[in-house]
Amino acid sequence: MTTSYLLLGSNLGDRAAHLAQARYDLATTAGRVAAASALYETAAWGLEDQPAFLNQVLAVETTLDAPTLLAACLAAEQQQGRERQVRWGARTLDVDILLFGQEIMATPTLTVPHPALPTRRFALVPLAELAPQLVHPQLHHTIAELLAACPDPLEVKQL
Ligand code: ATP
Ligand code: CA
Ligand code: CA
Repeated sequence: MTTSYLLLGSNLGDRAAHLAQARYDLATTAGRVAAASALYETAAWGLEDQPAFLNQVLAVETTLDAPTLLAACLAAEQQQGRERQVRWGARTLDVDILLFGQEIMATPTLTVPHPALPTRRFALVPLAELAPQLVHPQLHHTIAELLAACPDPLEVKQL
């Protein structure tokens, strides 16, 4: 059994409903949702001319391996009609694997821990709510320490 932290994001349509449906779908396909952070709102990152995002982190206890968990995440996105157009563009649902236990891997389709985690406040804030003392397996700092050092200026507002 592995505890994986997933970041859910939505900035199109009924954002909270997309996150709720994702929690429901992932509980069936990925594993037990042991904890869920509050919902947080952040201005869009990367491409800024688009609606604000709602984000949430889930702690999922899974028996899947990481590539199979990624497939479940991508299937949850497809369930909500996500269309991949431009990179970082608006989307009904995005599900990223932030951490998969203490595993470190980099393949063409899956990099874990998520390489952008230390530079994204919208990922660190909800993760720090659930697991502030968790140690990042590559950086050897806790999530609370990474958040304190995060240079991202975008405000992350708890709803
Ligand atoms: P970013 O990863 O910078 O947040 P994004 O979420 O907008 O960008 P997507 O278009 O959702 O990018 O994903 C493109 C591909 O990224 C996925 O199909 C998947 O193969 C790959 N990928 C690599 N590492 C991860 C990870 N840790 N979690 C989710 N997807 C990943
Ligand atoms: Ca993403
Ligand atoms: Ca993604």
